[in-house]
Amino acid sequence: MENATRFAVYATRSREEAIELAQRFAQEGEPLVIAAGGDGTLNAVIEGLAGSQTSLGVFPTGTMNVFAREMGIPYDRLENAMEIIDEGHSEEVDLFAMNGAPFVQMAGVGFDAQVIEETTWERKKLLGPLAYLLSATKVLGEKPPQMTITCHEGRSYQGVCLLVGNGSLYGGQFPLFKKADNSDDLLDVVIFKEAGYQFVRDTLRGLAKGGIDPDSPGHSVEYVQTKSLEVTSEQAVPIEIDGELWGRSTQATFDSTGRKLRVFTPKERKGKTRYALLKVLSPWAHS
Ligand SMILES: [Mg+2]
Repeated sequence: MENATRFAVYATRSREEAIELAQRFAQEGEPLVIAAGGDGTLNAVIEGLAGSQTSLGVFPTGTMNVFAREMGIPYDRLENAMEIIDEGHSEEVDLFAMNGAPFVQMAGVGFDAQVIEETTWERKKLLGPLAYLLSATKVLGEKPPQMTITCHEGRSYQGVCLLVGNGSLYGGQFPLFKKADNSDDLLDVVIFKEAGYQFVRDTLRGLAKGGIDPDSPGHSVEYVQTKSLEVTSEQAVPIEIDGELWGRSTQATFDSTGRKLRVFTPKERKGKTRYALLKVLSPWAHS
């Protein structure tokens, strides 16, 4: 392989190893670290690179590749992803953190994270982005947590589930966070105020319409943009960052790391493909 002579390739066996390696390369002043893997691998690498001058290249080989899709990095042909890096065009994106753990695309508290806790890899592989939502129906039988969400500006909300977006895409190609821009220093937050059928319905409706509409209240969903937010809950709730289960906590603070992440991206981003969404959703919508 031609690229083998241009890059040193390291295989990592664990998340910790990926973080440590990325951290080491950042400290040694490497200009570029390429993350080859899915969103979980990417999250480990950005944790290692956070706060450094090292740029990130993305070589998307995961199931979802949500961040790659967000940035318009090709995930179907890896040669094309390598071309993006060779072209040398890069952009800065916001780097937020949950309780100090950086994430670059999305995070979730409550049902969403619990679904990830319960979604097997096989299911993910088989059903793709819809696996999470399908698993939600299983989780919804349980008593929902009561969370208080307090935003930077002082606004406060009660909710049972929270989705946090740096980028616009969630769980695959779904542009859930309609207003999101991952370089505006703001997080886009979708708060579900009630559980059960409403949760799934509003999510699906939002996805089908190309995102939760921030200007159409009245559903069980609230859409907020904020610099930071704090979530508290009486019971410990599951939390995911970049699609990886982080753990459970009664408290979660989402805040900027104060740093940007430099990412190699295509010079011109292609429009997001939404046609596939309806095709995928239709069998379920009618059942
Ligand atoms: Mg933003």
